[in-house]
Amino acid sequence: MKYRHSVAQSADYLRMAVKRMTQQDAGLHPISYAIWYEYVASLNPDLQAAIDRRLKEHGKLDDESTCALFHKHVAELDAKTALRIGDSVSHLVDQVSESAGHAGDQASRFGSSLETWIDTLLPPDGVADLAPGLQDILRGTRAMQQAIGTLQEKLDDSSRQAQQLKEEVARAREEALLDGLTGLVNRKGFDHAITACLQQEPTPFPGPCLMMIDVDRFKRINDTHGHLFGDRVLARIGEILRANVKGKDTAARFGGEEFAVILPETPRGGALGLAETLRALVAASRVTNGTRDELLIGNITVSIGVADHVAGESATALVTRADRALYAAKAQGRNRVALAPRPRAEAAK
Ligand code: GH3
Ligand code: MG
Ligand code: MG
Repeated sequence: MKYRHSVAQSADYLRMAVKRMTQQDAGLHPISYAIWYEYVASLNPDLQAAIDRRLKEHGKLDDESTCALFHKHVAELDAKTALRIGDSVSHLVDQVSESAGHAGDQASRFGSSLETWIDTLLPPDGVADLAPGLQDILRGTRAMQQAIGTLQEKLDDSSRQAQQLKEEVARAREEALLDGLTGLVNRKGFDHAITACLQQEPTPFPGPCLMMIDVDRFKRINDTHGHLFGDRVLARIGEILRANVKGKDTAARFGGEEFAVILPETPRGGALGLAETLRALVAASRVTNGTRDELLIGNITVSIGVADHVAGESATALVTRADRALYAAKAQGRNRVALAPRPRAEAAK
């Protein structure tokens, strides 16, 4: 946990944070408190610089900029920390597990050697016929053999626990790449997936293709039905994407009300077909407003830009082309899919 302040110290920060919060246009909610707490406690230099910049340019923070700062500098930081810790724990566990396994093997071999010695030392008529010194050695050898058996069990147990811990770390690592609201991978997960996709050895399959999806007039949806309803819309779109994007394909929440779908082995025709399916599913969906009369609200639409990757193109260039196509879809009237033109040298192919 990154907040390690005493009660008295954190009470001081609370007072300072509340004072700063009340000077803004944003609501007095926990997200606002989180960023101002980190600000006044000087916990997060990047956040501090970003807030100072924002205040200089706009005077105050509103809800939107507060949420954006939180996602970029507070939530994101935790994901980064989790990934870093995950990496080092995983490495450590590998080492412990290997040493435990190695020591276990040695203990087992030594145990077998002792067994052989006992057989060799023991005369046919039993221990009583042995010289007293040899009787001591035999007793010591048996005790040693027992101790080694126990040690080996403990080492096996440690090795099992190390493995379990590693699996937990892997799970936590995965969770750090997930978006809590939609259950899709988050921006960091998207960055990992697109990098891995473009680093892949060329396959006989066409692709990859990238889809950028943006909710139409989402600000209006928030303004009309409230931010919580807006969140419910995003969760619903997440459900639609999770149900329809499978296998090697990745659906991500790119940020705010934007989503992205990576299709590593799909030609542009297939990508356009899937985009059209997703567009139609969102347009046909209904989300309830959560009040007692449970009004169903429709008219939720998305615009989608599709780009197919050209050889040697960077992830940033591919995202930019898909984004431009998305904005072309918006300009053409929204609730539609647009294909990005290929870069000029490639267009002739
Ligand atoms: P366009 O059709 O051109 O995309 O219009 P738009 O209103 O969707 O676009 P704009 O970029 O003006 O507004 C996006 C809004 O999305 C503003 C922001 O407050 C809202 N938003 C971003 N993230 C979230 C979120 O996590 N939850 C909710 N409820 N709203 C969010
Ligand atoms: Mg947008
Ligand atoms: Mg939008």
